[in-house]
Amino acid sequence: MLVGVPLETAAGETRVAVTPETAKKLKAQGHTVRVQSGAGVRASAPDAAYEAVGAEITDAAGALGCDLVLKVRTPSPAEIALTKRGAALVGMLDPFDRSGLERLAAAGLTAFALEAAPRTTRAQSMDVLSSQANIAGYKAVIMAADRYQKFFPMLMTAAGTVKAARVVILGVGVAGLQAIATAKRLGAVIEASDVRPSVKEQVESLGARFIDVPYETAEEKEAAEGVGGYARPMPPSWLARQKVEVAKRVAQADVVISTALIPGRPAPTLITTEMVQAMKPGSVIIDIAAGRGPEGGGNCPLTVAGQTVQVHGVTIVGETNLPALVAADASALYARNVLDFLKLVLAKDATALNVPMDDDIVVACLVARDGQVTRS
Ligand code: NAD
Repeated sequence: MLVGVPLETAAGETRVAVTPETAKKLKAQGHTVRVQSGAGVRASAPDAAYEAVGAEITDAAGALGCDLVLKVRTPSPAEIALTKRGAALVGMLDPFDRSGLERLAAAGLTAFALEAAPRTTRAQSMDVLSSQANIAGYKAVIMAADRYQKFFPMLMTAAGTVKAARVVILGVGVAGLQAIATAKRLGAVIEASDVRPSVKEQVESLGARFIDVPYETAEEKEAAEGVGGYARPMPPSWLARQKVEVAKRVAQADVVISTALIPGRPAPTLITTEMVQAMKPGSVIIDIAAGRGPEGGGNCPLTVAGQTVQVHGVTIVGETNLPALVAADASALYARNVLDFLKLVLAKDATALNVPMDDDIVVACLVARDGQVTRS
């Protein structure tokens, strides 16, 4: 099959969907791989590295005009215009953006949004949300350490003792767990909050303290269990008690990393303006939910998506694409996720895709086919 790898055109996007490593594997499976010139450069994969494994270097039309197009981000209208009717598309296609999916369907594409894969053991090797969130959690801590004007570890020196940084992590999914692990390696003292009760044990096993907000009603407990491992919006009663506990910790924190998301809904507000006002000057907030909260903010309403702002002496980082700042490894992991997904729909030497409608992962990811959006 003719497999195309375009250069990503979304602002700030540095990742690539196929690395020389996975291009080589696609070639070994009997497929022709066409990579747009420069597609991998920002992820440390120059054209020559693709050519060395037998890929062909082409232009945008050459890559987007293939039978199977492998992308990181959903294609823009200009990119869609270069695709072929009946071609297949695999990428992070924003499955909650209905009008975006309708554009893909109208172009006659068979499209698979990898973010929609179930969070099951079998889907783990193709779980792009996990592979990228893991990187975001890591990079958020590295960025916080860079912006923070003090040490993370406790140090005893001849010139006196330096206290360890206090780090608060809000939302302990994949990104939050990696943020805890990374901050721990740097020597910080960490507290973390999440709505899901199962998280407590994971937080403690990483050497952090869980901010306990007990469930007082059956409704609160049921909401906290979530669905499919994901959080659901919590009742206001629980959120009010969580706010009190979080506010106390945030006031003492040097660094806050917030990662709380609810699929298909705006990110919850966890760090209010009043909480920021009460923080120590010089403290840092890295809002991984930037751009996903109400009115384009994140878990904090003062966050400005894509920017770093100073408010009341607090630095608030609203970076919206942290994985793109670790482009080589983010691409390496993403490309392996893509390759693993392809095993479900693309046989060796096949000239067309096979779409098994009895496979739960394939069905979950399929968002457009035969001119229709296939996701409810
Ligand atoms: P996510 O990015 O959707 O959300 C991040 C975190 O924010 C979640 O832990 C969520 O509970 C939390 N959150 C939401 N509202 C909050 C609030 N008001 N206060 C505090 N925290 C709040 O999560 P994710 O990292 O994508 O993980 C989602 C689920 O998938 C988890 O249960 C995770 O363990 C599971 N998972 C399973 C697998 C697998 O088995 N294959 C792989 C990865 C993740």
